[in-house]
Amino acid sequence: MSDHCETVCEIVSAVTTGHTTATAVLEERLRRIATSDEKLGCFQDTREDTARAMAAAVDAKIAAGEAVGPLAGVPIAFKDNIMVTGEPATCGSRILENFISPYDATVTERLRDAGAVLLGRTRCDEFAMGSSTEHCAFGPVRNPWDPDRVPGGSSGGSAAAVAAGFVPCSLGSDTGGSIRQPAAFCGITGLKPTGGRVSRWGLVSFAPSMDQIGPFTRTAEDAALLLQVMAGQDPRDDTSASTDQVGGVAALQAPLEGLRIGIPTEHISDENDHGVNAAVQQAADVFRSLGCEVKPVRLKTTDLGIACYYVLGPAEASSNLARFDGIRYGRRADDSGDGLEALYAASRSEGLGPEARRRIMLGTYVLSAGYYDAYYKRALQVRRLIHDEYARIYSEVDLLLGPTVPSVAFKFGSHADPISMYLCDKYTVTANIAGTCGVSIPCGTIDTDGVALPVGVQLQGPVLGEDILLRAAHQFQCATDFHTAQPTLA
Ligand code: GLN
Repeated sequence: MSDHCETVCEIVSAVTTGHTTATAVLEERLRRIATSDEKLGCFQDTREDTARAMAAAVDAKIAAGEAVGPLAGVPIAFKDNIMVTGEPATCGSRILENFISPYDATVTERLRDAGAVLLGRTRCDEFAMGSSTEHCAFGPVRNPWDPDRVPGGSSGGSAAAVAAGFVPCSLGSDTGGSIRQPAAFCGITGLKPTGGRVSRWGLVSFAPSMDQIGPFTRTAEDAALLLQVMAGQDPRDDTSASTDQVGGVAALQAPLEGLRIGIPTEHISDENDHGVNAAVQQAADVFRSLGCEVKPVRLKTTDLGIACYYVLGPAEASSNLARFDGIRYGRRADDSGDGLEALYAASRSEGLGPEARRRIMLGTYVLSAGYYDAYYKRALQVRRLIHDEYARIYSEVDLLLGPTVPSVAFKFGSHADPISMYLCDKYTVTANIAGTCGVSIPCGTIDTDGVALPVGVQLQGPVLGEDILLRAAHQFQCATDFHTAQPTLA
């Protein structure tokens, strides 16, 4: 009996055909976590007993010849901003340290029903604000390829947990790149679905017009399977798309001949790290060899993305985070007896870290009566330009290709200036602003200070274009083996 399966599809096939058991798969992953997570810090919390009970339930069903779901026996980790009944959801914040989720997120429910084994929750930047996990109140996560470097963020714990082999898949949330950027830094596959494709019910909101839950996996095939389980309209999220289900794994096979892929010239910038542009060109050659027509295109709004995102994101965040006041939600400061306002201020000052506070202040400012027109309204107008340019470009090409991030994973502390950190999201934020989909897949490594660090290529697709996006990513992975590289854990 072999219990060594790396991908979701391998695990499902081995568990359902009796080559291994859900329990054996889980125990192997728990051993890896016990050996190496102390150094990496991916997990905020593991739930070994409930995971063991879930795995045993899958095994019992299989032994009894009962039907099991499409993710039978697959261990999965959740970013710590997604609700699981009875478990904390700290969002990487002291203010929610003692919060216990009273209900399951829709994705949690759907994954449970599919037979997945919920193994634990992973660390992230506070309220998903950040690109490195350095803004997590409980400590940062280390990159499994080089522990002196960040795993990316904000969903860094979920990405690093897959890269380290602790779980075959995990969930993150992506508001401006928080799935794709850490997937690139950790050398794995990370999918940001179309806005509305996956229900946000039970995801703690950061900027709901851009937030989307999505999977981290080793392969695009696994991402297709997870998306199929999670996607679909949800009456509890009235922004969820009322459309047919995605095609899943069955939709990945059709040849790519004739597919039109555009490379935005604005994304092949001299400011990118040496090696990133070359890796993208090599990926383009792979797509050409698969019969795609790859050509340069212009995406002139690229440079507007960061400014637009860092007005809209904080504006929405300042409003959403207003509920964490120590009274309605969140840890309450000691009452100084100076009244309610003082209690709010003390609770929020104690409970929220510097980046969350910065965004709340920025968001409140851009929404204030005197500045609304100059900043928030202007950003909405820019959003329209970006949206329209994306709509036009997808009438000319089927997909876009470019770097996910301008650089490889950086060292802790190297982006102390918030603006330099924000610029990591240059190529990812526009898909959130436009509400389109994107995936980051590994496309090679760059030797940096003697360490081979992964580079990610981003494929972007139109609204509800996940089938074609994942088909291209899957066939790239069938033709290359970048996605099979794994770090050696110290
Ligand atoms: N790094 C971006 C930010 O700090 C993106 C975050 C995200 O996608 N959740 O806002």
